[in-house]
Amino acid sequence: MTPDPRRLTSTDAQRLIMPTDPWLSCEDCFELTDRFAEELLAHPDTTHLPEMLVHLHACAACAEEAESLIVLLAADVGADPAAALDRLRG
Ligand SMILES: [Zn+2]
Repeated sequence: MTPDPRRLTSTDAQRLIMPTDPWLSCEDCFELTDRFAEELLAHPDTTHLPEMLVHLHACAACAEEAESLIVLLAADVGADPAAALDRLRG
């Protein structure tokens, strides 16, 4: 029996029922991305701007943007972006 590709994984289901408050638009998100990326990179264990995490878990476009920024920033300061990226991907 092959797995049904349309079937939601529990992670997908979790994302669908995640709270969407406080709600951010992509534009709000974009304005906060710099600060969020810097803070997340510096302290990946702390939840900064929880509304950003909510938005990024639900919005692939912004998440991709934030990931690239974290990778760039990390390279800039010679840090390892792995922990921040894990946190971002939830
Ligand atoms: Zn977005």
